[in-house]
Amino acid sequence: MYEKTRAWIELNMDNLLHNVEQLKSHLFPGCQLMPAVKANAYGHGSILIAKALNQMGIRNFCVAAAIEGVALRKAGIEGQILVLGYTHPEAFDLLVEYDLTQTVVDAVYAALLADYGKPLKVHISVDTGMRRLGERSEHLSSILSFWKYKTLKITGLYSHLCVADGTSPMDVQFTLMQFQRFDTIVDALHQKGIDGFSTHIQGSYGFLNYPEFHYDYIRPGIALYGCKSLPDDQPRLELSLRPVLSLKARLSSVRTLLPGESAGYGLTFTAQKPLLIGTASIGYADGIPRSLSGKGYALIRGRRAPFIGRICMDQLLLDVTDIPDASPMDEVVLIGSSVFSDGISEYKNEICVEDLALQGQTISNEILSCLGERLERVAI
Ligand SMILES: *Cc1c(COP(=O)(O)O)cnc(C)c1O
Repeated sequence: MYEKTRAWIELNMDNLLHNVEQLKSHLFPGCQLMPAVKANAYGHGSILIAKALNQMGIRNFCVAAAIEGVALRKAGIEGQILVLGYTHPEAFDLLVEYDLTQTVVDAVYAALLADYGKPLKVHISVDTGMRRLGERSEHLSSILSFWKYKTLKITGLYSHLCVADGTSPMDVQFTLMQFQRFDTIVDALHQKGIDGFSTHIQGSYGFLNYPEFHYDYIRPGIALYGCKSLPDDQPRLELSLRPVLSLKARLSSVRTLLPGESAGYGLTFTAQKPLLIGTASIGYADGIPRSLSGKGYALIRGRRAPFIGRICMDQLLLDVTDIPDASPMDEVVLIGSSVFSDGISEYKNEICVEDLALQGQTISNEILSCLGERLERVAI
């Protein structure tokens, strides 16, 4: 078995189930989860995650690109798969062949989808203020006209919130306005006698900060994986979500660095005293941001090993002076918890992706979704 040999992700499927149940327990009757499994399920591994979700009874998914939907279908994923992003007309065949539901990104695109001539399942995107995708919510007659395209089977209407994670009065006001614009268009369509389409607007923060609003689906990504975008985020609905992902690598070598000696590319780090340094077999090509060079730390045997020098493409250096028992082949934890007992003391430490995100001046979503293809993904 070639498992856990270099650098890998461990998926805690019990935590995934826990998060699904937590989210479900706060949904209004009739509302269902449509998890975002785009970007390889935020780096977790879209097939492993979607299969597990299928087994938990989830039958709706959203992805960003048609090819992501194709990969899920090839792996046997059942249910509705909504493509949230743009699909080029030359790839429309994929939508038919793999039974994917395409987003109508605006009126120009609706005409392209109709020109294709074959029946397509679509959800209409409505722009309620983000100004990214969707037909503007004021354009009722334009949106209405999409129903005239006989080959378009319109099964949903949705929008996206852009400041739902914000708690300032301005952000709240803007989000409430987005909900209102969405409700207005939904009501107007119903009044015109148009029915039979589902509605959805909330992602993770849209749901956690505005749980009193309810539609047919919520589209959680980051919350489903048990994370917040940033450590200080405090959504109004406080769920006990648990991280699904741990990131680990092997310690490949341990060596001494003499006072005055430098290490790594650019020799940016210099030892002031004798140091013990370790090399971990994971680098920026695996998704450890290079901007964390000289910042942050990993865990070995329950203790902290600070990053030193520049993070390399495939490896990184750690100061293990305070972990004198650190040995080649030890597990290095980049995200997750590390527990170790030497018979005398017990050491226990944890690194959350949110802390890594803060240090790397980004959000958890980016760190996770950039985790590399070559990492093994192991369900536990
Ligand atoms: C990515 C995405 C989501 C999920 O976002 P989270 O904040 O991770 O929950 C939902 N809807 C759309 C349109 C998205 O692009």
